[in-house]
Amino acid sequence: MTRRVGEHAIVLGAGVSGLLAARVLADFYDRVTLVERDALGAGGPRKGVPQGFHAHSLLPRGLQILEELFPGLTEEMVAEGAVPYEMIVHLRMIFGGHEFARMPTGEVGVSSTRPFLESHILRRVRELRNVVTADRSQVSGLMTRDGRVVGARIADDDGERELPADLVVDAMGRGGRTLAWLESMGFDRPEEETIKVEIAYATWYLRLPKGALDKDRMIILGTYPGQPKGAALCAVEGDRWLVTLGGHDGMRPPTDPEGFFAWLDEAAPADVSAAVRAAEPLGEIGTARIPTSTRRRYERLSRFPEGLLVTGDAICSFNPVYGQGMAVGGLYAIAMRDCLRDGTGDLARRYFAAAAKALDPAWQLSSGADLALRQAEAARTPMARMLNAYIGRLQRVAARDPRVAVAFTRVSGLLDPPAALMRPAVLWRALRG
Ligand SMILES: Cc1cc2nc3c(=O)[nH]c(=O)nc-3n(C[C@H](O)[C@H](O)[C@H](O)COP(=O)(O)OP(=O)(O)OC[C@H]3O[C@@H](n4cnc5c(N)ncnc54)[C@H](O)[C@@H]3O)c2cc1C
Repeated sequence: MTRRVGEHAIVLGAGVSGLLAARVLADFYDRVTLVERDALGAGGPRKGVPQGFHAHSLLPRGLQILEELFPGLTEEMVAEGAVPYEMIVHLRMIFGGHEFARMPTGEVGVSSTRPFLESHILRRVRELRNVVTADRSQVSGLMTRDGRVVGARIADDDGERELPADLVVDAMGRGGRTLAWLESMGFDRPEEETIKVEIAYATWYLRLPKGALDKDRMIILGTYPGQPKGAALCAVEGDRWLVTLGGHDGMRPPTDPEGFFAWLDEAAPADVSAAVRAAEPLGEIGTARIPTSTRRRYERLSRFPEGLLVTGDAICSFNPVYGQGMAVGGLYAIAMRDCLRDGTGDLARRYFAAAAKALDPAWQLSSGADLALRQAEAARTPMARMLNAYIGRLQRVAARDPRVAVAFTRVSGLLDPPAALMRPAVLWRALRG
């Protein structure tokens, strides 16, 4: 059930998290303005989202949320070229060097490029009668009164203007401006947890020979201690495959074709690397570097300005190899919706608490795995070491036991909490296996 809580809300940034926040806020505010620096709607890669060139898999929980917020979106995307797949029939996962056994689960995913996904969400957001998009508009600052946020200052080709609002949401990604704004308003900055991951990506779009990878639609080759070379291969719209190589701790994937092939020869099964060698290249190899994984603990602040919230990567930007960012952006949107159902009293405190709770499982999984990699800098606790040893065992068993593979996939897809891996049925299979 929704209720009106205010006249105007502004969302700063039209990445996936901003779009989902706008969708939710449209149920509670008379008007929502979505402000974005880039021109929107062209459907291709955007300057403000350079990561959109690289593999962007949407975890199953993320797809569930999209369907909840935009019923029929999956079908629409598939009709327009996104590639549907069934977990874990069409999904080939190699973790810890073990190729997981497969079985039907009925759980469906869609694979596409990030610009394709984003443009489909944007289209649905634009169909909402009370959402206005202000693109090619730079957020230059906040409007504040008596320690409360009362709007934002927006600059575009016509100059700067003030946009009063009851609520402003920072969805500007990793470079979100809230930290600086808090300081300038005399509030504390949140504590930050940072893990140095030094991830480097190299991505190539290819057309594979027909049937080269049989029923596979997505192939994930995880890195693990001793093997810093990983990759993700995704069938995407336009009858293409998007192949992203990923290295951690300073290991940089090559950007020349022969080096690219050689990386896969080493990291991938022979049929995968042969399929890529036989493919038709569709452009240049592009790169990205992600130095850290950072979580900002807004929920621990004792004071936060009224009229302001934060979402998406501006709260937590993950090591991207786990593919969690967009799904977690969806979880924040659901947390925002649930909090607004109880009105706007004490909204920031309630929202950040709910967002942190929603984020915890994803952070636990990714930070745990990051710390398990030898070169990760942060300290490793005995509990984390024990958990990582158990995960290693699960991955070995998952190569033979599809039920363990399903349990693992559901947890990493954020469908089940990490504790599901400790359920007696899984524990028993892992120990027996
Ligand atoms: C290389 C890489 C690979 C990734 N792979 C995956 C994956 O496989 N799966 C997954 O789920 N996630 C992945 N992620 C994470 C994912 O990209 C983000 O979590 C996701 O985009 C949600 O972020 P966001 O909407 O908070 O921010 P962003 O997507 O970064 O969007 C921020 C928006 O704010 C706009 N903006 C910024 N400053 C201003 C300003 N001053 N004024 C107006 N607008 C502004 C930007 O133009 C942009 O549109 C990956 C990230 C990287 C870096």
